[in-house]
Amino acid sequence: MKLLVIGSGGREHALVWKLAQSRHTTRMYCAPGNAGISQERLANSGSLVECVPLGAEDLPRLLAFAEAQKIDLTVVGPDNPLALGIVDLFQQKGLRIWGPNRQAAQFESSKVFAQQFMERYGLPTARAGTFADAGAAKAFARSLEGRCAVKADGLALGKGVLICSHPTEAERAIEEVLVRKTFGAAGTQIVIQEFLEGTEISLHALCDGRTAALFPTSQDHKRALDQDQGLNTGGMGAYSPAPFLNEAGLAEVRNRILKPWLQGCAAEGIDFHGILYPGLMLTKTGPKVLEFNARFGDPETQVYLTRLENDLVELLEASITGQLAKVDLKWNPMPSVCVVMASGGYPGNYAKGEAIHGLEEVAHLPGIKVFHAGTAKRGDHLVTNGGRVLGVTAWGSDLRAARDLAYAAVDKITFAGAHFRRDIAAKGLGAS
Ligand code: AMP
Repeated sequence: MKLLVIGSGGREHALVWKLAQSRHTTRMYCAPGNAGISQERLANSGSLVECVPLGAEDLPRLLAFAEAQKIDLTVVGPDNPLALGIVDLFQQKGLRIWGPNRQAAQFESSKVFAQQFMERYGLPTARAGTFADAGAAKAFARSLEGRCAVKADGLALGKGVLICSHPTEAERAIEEVLVRKTFGAAGTQIVIQEFLEGTEISLHALCDGRTAALFPTSQDHKRALDQDQGLNTGGMGAYSPAPFLNEAGLAEVRNRILKPWLQGCAAEGIDFHGILYPGLMLTKTGPKVLEFNARFGDPETQVYLTRLENDLVELLEASITGQLAKVDLKWNPMPSVCVVMASGGYPGNYAKGEAIHGLEEVAHLPGIKVFHAGTAKRGDHLVTNGGRVLGVTAWGSDLRAARDLAYAAVDKITFAGAHFRRDIAAKGLGAS
């Protein structure tokens, strides 16, 4: 099969790496890809993955490319093309594509839609209200004593959530999103949720319209600095499994979250084929959904796909055709840890074009895979080309071994200004 993967980050590198191992893959393109992706080879033929300079949101040119190259399966990584309706467009033209259509992608592209859906079908979530009017929003925030999360409705590059702990802070946040429109049209409406305390984990479920096959647990690290200090980022590291939900907890998630979600989708004619990725807070009164994403997490994908034993092409086909009930997901029991190495200054301003050293040495170590995110080639050299640069991923006999191996590799890789957290997986190690 000829595959096209859309996107350019660490998530897409992990998808390409895993799809390249499939016996079904005979040729693979990635648009636009990155320097690490262009070094991947197909297990089948040994041929290199080809990066094509097409933006992930350039739907007309992506469509023209898929038609011209007779792509058998397109795999969408990021949220934006899904929200723009790439799946609907490709399907109208008779092309096979994996990911939720525009209606289904609303679980991520509209927080108002997701919150109201959860309330309609009784999914456990934070107490919340949705508002277009600043006065009503402020009154609701005051009723929560200002301890709340103010969320822009639409996609805002992961920056549209403002956590507040005081009424004046909440008023400022509401003004910023609803009145000053800092996030543009994404902030025409907002969701205000009560602030929830607990342990945050990531869940992923592969869906085929009828079935939701739950992955093992994982945990992301959103803040830039150790001990969850500093600004929110796209994610500074992840590990799986995260030892905070036992079998009974997972059963509760299936019954109280996935089951009513599937029933709600059926009732509203939402045909969801793709990854449902709920962000969950494990509170004293049980798991509660903070938000939904409608695609693979980054860097959760890096730890999931280094543990997944199934052929990913076959899984995505089953997700498209509604055959997931017949498939068993198989996971390597070895835990996996991904440490993100970022450019100095990220998530604020940062330099690009810094030479990266040490990757050749790390490439020969067993139990390690370095996924590239923001990298490019300059002559023969690899250089930094984004905020998150590398996702150094390792697996081992237990979480500690995987963590130690990941950091041993991180310590061999250098670039000017490199910044990473030292405490990825520390919470999991503390709990287990
Ligand atoms: P979201 O994009 O909605 O997941 O929000 C981004 C981050 O804000 C989450 O990963 C949480 O750490 C935090 N957050 C969101 N909603 C809440 C909430 N209701 N209570 C506490 N923290 C929250």
